[in-house]
Amino acid sequence: MGAVKASPQSQLRLLELADLDAELARLDHRRRGLPEVAELIRLEARAGELKDELVGTETELSDLVREENRAERDVEQVRTRIDRDRARLDAGQVSAARELATLQSEIESLRRRQGDLEEIVLELMERREGLTNRRDELTAERDSLGTQAAEVAARRDAAFKEIDEQAGKAAEQRATVAADVPADLLKLYEQIRDTRGVGAAMLRAGRCEGCHLSLNKVDLNQIRSSAPDEVVRCEECRRILVRTPESGI
Ligand SMILES: [Zn+2]
Repeated sequence: MGAVKASPQSQLRLLELADLDAELARLDHRRRGLPEVAELIRLEARAGELKDELVGTETELSDLVREENRAERDVEQVRTRIDRDRARLDAGQVSAARELATLQSEIESLRRRQGDLEEIVLELMERREGLTNRRDELTAERDSLGTQAAEVAARRDAAFKEIDEQAGKAAEQRATVAADVPADLLKLYEQIRDTRGVGAAMLRAGRCEGCHLSLNKVDLNQIRSSAPDEVVRCEECRRILVRTPESGI
């Protein structure tokens, strides 16, 4: 690796490359960390919960409606029987005292039964009302959640578009700069970038701009005595150290 040599101009290009890579990394980080992305995940999770709850409520509601209809039919049946008995009574069809008493007692018991059934219907109606309200609440929340999610998605997409445009420009510039760097130097840079995130750094005032550590005298002297086309590395972070007039050597 130490064998890589490159003109100072080529080495300087690495600093442009490192800036562009930093910019691309920053944009990628921003894209991943957009608050809208997290917000959408949260909204989607809530929408899933709502959907399940809504399905449960609808099922319960339709069961209840069926039960209510059944109870109403029962009431109707009892009512019909009462009417029929009353009609017989009113028509004077029944004259025997015992039969009369039986009929009257049947009407009594049917009335009680009607009262009980009507109470059941009432109770079912109340439960249905409660469930209908709950369903309406859930539907309203689902709808507003949908609106909210659409707004957040639009904001996210706008941010994505902006980030992607910037990243596209940076990538284009990067390709231009990379085309100007000799292949072996570029390869070394990429290898370091893969492990370090940034492949090259400026040596400024005796300090590596990559790891921000000051070089010791021995290392500085060694760099000072290196030929300009020699590619030197930071002893601390192993990045390529690019020498400039500001290097302090
Ligand atoms: Zn360093």
